[in-house]
Amino acid sequence: MTASLFLPARQSTRSLSGIPRTGGVDAPAVSCYISSNRSPTAGAPEFGRRRGRATGVELTILGSGSAGNLAFLSTERTRLLIDAGLSKRETLKRMETAGLRPNGLAGIVVSHEHNDHAAHLGALAEEFNAPVYLAEGTREALPEARVLPRVERFRPGHRFVVGDIEMVPFAVPHDANEPVAFRVETQGVKLVLAVDLGFLTGLVKQQLRGCDCLILEANHDTEMLRRGPYPWFIKQRVMSRLGHLSNEAVADFLECDFDGSAAYLVLAHLSQNNNSPEIARLAAEQALERRRARFPLSLVRDPEIRVAPRRAPLAPLRF
Ligand SMILES: [Zn+2]
Ligand SMILES: [Zn+2]
Repeated sequence: MTASLFLPARQSTRSLSGIPRTGGVDAPAVSCYISSNRSPTAGAPEFGRRRGRATGVELTILGSGSAGNLAFLSTERTRLLIDAGLSKRETLKRMETAGLRPNGLAGIVVSHEHNDHAAHLGALAEEFNAPVYLAEGTREALPEARVLPRVERFRPGHRFVVGDIEMVPFAVPHDANEPVAFRVETQGVKLVLAVDLGFLTGLVKQQLRGCDCLILEANHDTEMLRRGPYPWFIKQRVMSRLGHLSNEAVADFLECDFDGSAAYLVLAHLSQNNNSPEIARLAAEQALERRRARFPLSLVRDPEIRVAPRRAPLAPLRF
């Protein structure tokens, strides 16, 4: 456990009054996915070679976006779910599709109370007989969390451990009660999962440094959102500093602040109406090109970009 994992005291991000605590800003009716354009194992051997050994760490994003968020993280000893935005049936179905065994789950870790992240927490905790890890503010906002038999509370900025997985929840700006993103460290692998955040604070950028893999929200193309069908108050919410991260914000990060350490960059939580996998990917690729032009002598390689499908598993990331 390194001292650098201990963070400053939490930043409080309280909900905006009058805004319902439902994360969904997209109509979830139409299913339209694009899978990774690489085979399920592409990237994994290369990543293993880069590290010199395979670690047994795997991350599978089973769903990403307003229709439901859930990721499965496993080591040789520990398995856990991050977020609980998919129904029991859908979770089991997608786990089966991804070849994941649901037994022996060590916990369900929740980022915030919005429906697309927590609507099925009770059902999944019961199904897997697993403890739930969440912030006190999230627990307060989730009535069903009060009756769950096993609830472990974490504090943003303070690490906790599940099996051999170390998690550091850190505060993000979003219109929920106590929203967090997660920095995960296990077997020498460092990942960050940061979705549902209005902008990249200094704290968030600090957490994104030195990681092997970044899962970062690329929610919308700002122009598509502006011209799109949403009522203005929803557009304002999505674009606000407590809303969702745009392709442009991700591009700006990649061009100016990305430290080049991540071998994988997963673009996640894409809006169905105000973004497309192609547009999100292109924005990131063009930003990395601009970065190369700015730092022509840099030997750092670009990360391999994946786009998390909204309603299907992304091929497992193996480290
Ligand atoms: Zn969300
Ligand atoms: Zn949210």
